[in-house]
Amino acid sequence: MLGELALASLSARRPIDPTSGMALFTAGNAIVTVASPSGARFTYRIQRAKESRRPSRPWFVGVLTGPDNTADYTYLGMIGDEGGRPGDFCRTRGSHVGEDAPSVVAFQWIWARLRAGHSVAPATLYHEGRCVRCARLLTVPESIATGYGPECVKVAVALTTAGGATAPPAWLRKPS
Ligand SMILES: [Zn+2]
Repeated sequence: MLGELALASLSARRPIDPTSGMALFTAGNAIVTVASPSGARFTYRIQRAKESRRPSRPWFVGVLTGPDNTADYTYLGMIGDEGGRPGDFCRTRGSHVGEDAPSVVAFQWIWARLRAGHSVAPATLYHEGRCVRCARLLTVPESIATGYGPECVKVAVALTTAGGATAPPAWLRKPS
């Protein structure tokens, strides 16, 4: 399809390098999607506790459980603050999801891998995106890859035309 070709060339976002995962997860306001090769995925929000009189500032972890990816997060547990460094992920009394829930098991595994500096393969991590048309938050891998949300992508496809298959100008070419 012409539209798909045009969108493929627009791919602004790619899966993030697992070695950057720690910095991404602990930045303070992260929204990260973890995708399985099976197609299953979870979107997590990891927010660091605000500055307070207490020296400890843990990270709170939620999983997306509703249609609004800016708000519909269910609390899973927290990552402890070990003197400013992120520690273990643990469920707390406020956790609304059981310890055997796939979203918890997946997060625990990913977190342990990142902390140890290991690859998270076969999982793939995606940082959130923004729709280039309406600026909505994007958390679905296909949308992050194209830069378009599911509604706006229809408009983008309609706008593409044939042609434009000319050679790039010299400064865009690889030096030989
Ligand atoms: Zn949009």
